[in-house]
Amino acid sequence: MAKPHSGMPVVFFGHGSPMNTLERNQYTETWRALGESIPRPKAILCVSAHWYTEGTAVTAMEKPKTIHDFYGFPQALFDVHYPAPGDPRLAARVRELLEPVEVRLDDSWGLDHGTWSVLKHAYPDAKIPVVQLSIDGTRAPEFHYETGKRLAPLRDEGVLVAGSGNVVHNLRLMKRAGGPAFDWAVRFNERVREALASRDHRALIEFERLDENARLAVPTPEHYLPLLYIAALQREDEQMSLAVDGYEMGSLGMLTAVAGMPAS
Ligand code: ZN
Repeated sequence: MAKPHSGMPVVFFGHGSPMNTLERNQYTETWRALGESIPRPKAILCVSAHWYTEGTAVTAMEKPKTIHDFYGFPQALFDVHYPAPGDPRLAARVRELLEPVEVRLDDSWGLDHGTWSVLKHAYPDAKIPVVQLSIDGTRAPEFHYETGKRLAPLRDEGVLVAGSGNVVHNLRLMKRAGGPAFDWAVRFNERVREALASRDHRALIEFERLDENARLAVPTPEHYLPLLYIAALQREDEQMSLAVDGYEMGSLGMLTAVAGMPAS
């Protein structure tokens, strides 16, 4: 029998368009409900697709700024601020946990929209300290999975580890006027869902082999990789549950998944 455990759940958010920050839809309502049902974390560590770096870094400032890392959106989106405090002690803890991987304590980034577009809904009061962990774009998927595993103690330290990206993310083929999901997008997403349901982490790591059109669903890996950090934190006795799924503009997969929710 599986041992009972306490500890924080882990969440992968499919963030989609930054406009979700300002909207209320099935995705944002799901993020809100998650924020309300997850035990209130002491801090949040977010692996965002939008901090894709050479080497690994962690935000270590007391007051991370809200970064508007996009263009061509309405002014209202540039007016959004998410003034959550930082948590330099958590940054130091992350650095310690990831040894011997060298982790740079960063003082210049802040919170990008991968983080705040979802936290604005999940934790609208912006009172919980937030730290971001960057994705080292020079490393293979296996590295990201192993890095995620090293973060496991944080779950018992009251930290909510979140990944923010999209399982399917092809901006070049996006239907800006809207429209049904591409067949290849649905197929890839279904393969990922099967791998999540059967806890087949090997298949998730080797995502390029999940489907013949994986390269269309994941033309660049930064939006997919946050999922590997979250899968790596799923314990043996936990299910990964889909909180919501769907598609935006044909080529953005909006799957949000959670593991380790306390039984209600
Ligand atoms: Zn994004």
